[in-house]
Amino acid sequence: MSEFDLIQRFFTRATPGAILGVGDDAALLHVAEGMELAVSTDMLVSGTHFLPDADPFLLGHKTLAVNLSDLAAMGAVPRWATLALSLPAADTDWLQRFSTGFFALADEHGVELVGGDTTRGPLCLSVTIMGEVPRGKALRRSGAEAGDDIWVSGMLGHAALGLAHLQGRTELPEDVRVCCLAALHQPQPRVALGLALRDIASSAIDISDGLLADLGHILERSHAGAEVKFDEIPTGIARAIDEPLFRHCVLSGGDDYELCFTACAAKRSEIEAVAKRLGLPLTRIGKIVTGQGCTVRSAKDGVMTIKESGYDHFA
Ligand code: ADP
Ligand code: MG
Repeated sequence: MSEFDLIQRFFTRATPGAILGVGDDAALLHVAEGMELAVSTDMLVSGTHFLPDADPFLLGHKTLAVNLSDLAAMGAVPRWATLALSLPAADTDWLQRFSTGFFALADEHGVELVGGDTTRGPLCLSVTIMGEVPRGKALRRSGAEAGDDIWVSGMLGHAALGLAHLQGRTELPEDVRVCCLAALHQPQPRVALGLALRDIASSAIDISDGLLADLGHILERSHAGAEVKFDEIPTGIARAIDEPLFRHCVLSGGDDYELCFTACAAKRSEIEAVAKRLGLPLTRIGKIVTGQGCTVRSAKDGVMTIKESGYDHFA
């Protein structure tokens, strides 16, 4: 199969939301009046982000999901994506399943694939996602203020526990394993939540590298500190599992793709209403304070000392 047949067969779909989609030297897009274009890129590399034998359908899902998550954290409506693929071979079965996973999630969120690049090489999947947000309304990392509550969506630590299980670092009981592996392989980007938070949150970020690392980015950009209560962090699973690993996964484990956001205390009831409407738990885990850095306390240990705050490719 030629490169062009491959693009035509697996990655060319109707794109009614674009002026011009796949097939020319560039796509042409129109951003609606009064909107800003939000653009973000995330890359998944075999051996770094996933195991080489990972299920291609789930990879297709995750490649797009991690990008949707970034737009969710900005409060933007996802509209278009480009896909850069480096493939060791043109394996039609693999491509069929990968593109099915990719387009299933794309369709769910109304995202159109408008271009990309395809080359031979080590397996690497990179998406650039584009979306729209009303002028001045994007959620940034820089808006947190002392006194604001810190919130997180969903449950934390599941994806990292799932990975620990796959790597043989722990043995999860059946029911916990199922939910942790689902979190790892099929993260659900919190797009609707991001949109709902536009006029509520003072700052937001998606949790891709671990709670403390990503909350740390909010603190840096907002020139503030934080106090977090470990016991309040939603985990949804028995803490009995290997205590140090559990703590590590909850505080520093990556790949959850939940949102962490801040809002003033006056917004609590509005946020609780959003949680109810979306059927998504939103939990207050601490507050923003003056100063810098994050202090984590638990009833059992008092102030917790944390060695690594999250995943860093070059640390
Ligand atoms: P060029 O040589 O100008 O870079 P290509 O031959 O790489 O163009 O790509 C031809 C067309 O196919 C372009 O419109 C490009 O955006 C699109 N394309 C290439 N790879 C992909 C892909 N994996 N998914 C979607 N579109 C793709
Ligand atoms: Mg090209």
